[in-house]
Amino acid sequence: MKEWGIQGALVLTPEEELKGSSVEIKDAKIDRVSREKSRCALTIDAQDAVLTPGLINSHDHLLGTYFPKVGNGPYENWLPWDNDLKSAPVYEERQQIENRDLYLLGAYRNLVSAVTTVSDHIPHFVSEPYYDMLPMKAIRHYALAHSIASFALAWGGEIDAEYQKALKEDIPFITHIGEGFDAETRQDLKTLDRKGGLGDHSVLVHCIAFQDEDIKIIKQKGASVVWCADSNVFMFNTTAQVKKMLDAGVNVCIGTDSPMSGGENLLYELKFDRTYFKKTYGKDLPDETIVRMVTANPARAFHMKKSGHVKSGFVADLALFRHTRKNPYDSVVSAGLRDVLLVVIDGKPAYGDARYAHLFDALKVPYQRIVLDGEEKVVIGDLLGMLRRISKAVHFKKEFPFLPVEFQV
Ligand SMILES: [Zn+2]
Repeated sequence: MKEWGIQGALVLTPEEELKGSSVEIKDAKIDRVSREKSRCALTIDAQDAVLTPGLINSHDHLLGTYFPKVGNGPYENWLPWDNDLKSAPVYEERQQIENRDLYLLGAYRNLVSAVTTVSDHIPHFVSEPYYDMLPMKAIRHYALAHSIASFALAWGGEIDAEYQKALKEDIPFITHIGEGFDAETRQDLKTLDRKGGLGDHSVLVHCIAFQDEDIKIIKQKGASVVWCADSNVFMFNTTAQVKKMLDAGVNVCIGTDSPMSGGENLLYELKFDRTYFKKTYGKDLPDETIVRMVTANPARAFHMKKSGHVKSGFVADLALFRHTRKNPYDSVVSAGLRDVLLVVIDGKPAYGDARYAHLFDALKVPYQRIVLDGEEKVVIGDLLGMLRRISKAVHFKKEFPFLPVEFQV
């Protein structure tokens, strides 16, 4: 593919702030990051913008993407919520939609919020037919369990076999854990350890029940944690002890969970987390820390060795945000859907402001023009067709707050 560049942006690597820098992209990789002007003939100007690695949403269930939320918590664990979900009229409504369109809906929900990679937690045989057609990336190679308790769904093989597979292939082992308060759930971490599933390849989602001793163990073992605060507060009226985890040096990442329990999208989640932390602990969770929790931290957790940083030789997954605040990290955390100016996946533009349509043209990337939240945008694939098919399936114009796109049925 043609080489091209982005020039003039404030780059968050995310460890460093590089003012007025250029990024050159070649063959799906970042070729050069420098303070000099871009050497590429095709270069877009981004003086008004903050450039970050493409965001990574560390927990979602794409097939479960729908609206509105369902639930009447606080629950004791995830099981009664799941029962409430499956007996809700909106669940029946969702069931009329093809899995392909639910996958696409989930992927577009992530893409427009600057997410380039999502961790979609579901058995492989369910998701595999859909990943190639998505407009953004889902992590394909991972070992898994649904959860640790005896009432877990039968996802993946035996825990020790899954963990051994993760070690052998250097992929993550992902599981829900500590999602509730019953006696068994409170023992989840010990059970996981006893079953051979705890180590530096473990990605532990929720961890609400974890106590000080558990936090010490996960730090010792080098496991990562995924914090889904909005979903947790909705279902359980509380969430993980994230301050203690961060203070202990645990690698914490942020996930949205599905919008039937969690927040609208990852950008919403970042603001929810900032506010929740301040309210709960009376201290600021620095914007810089939040940005790392959706870039560098998940790249480490999921063993994506060449992602999560704006660095030469790394995968060219990038996000460009309108620079609206004094502090560029604040501009990212405060960004709404309108502030996402461009999303680049594997070196190609996938979504952005209509002002960048010429970039899609020059790189021969087909796109559709849409109006999202009143702003003209361009996006790959057929987002409008998907919205029409969903409305047709449920027999009314179905709209989603996480994808506020104008369309006709
Ligand atoms: Zn989940």
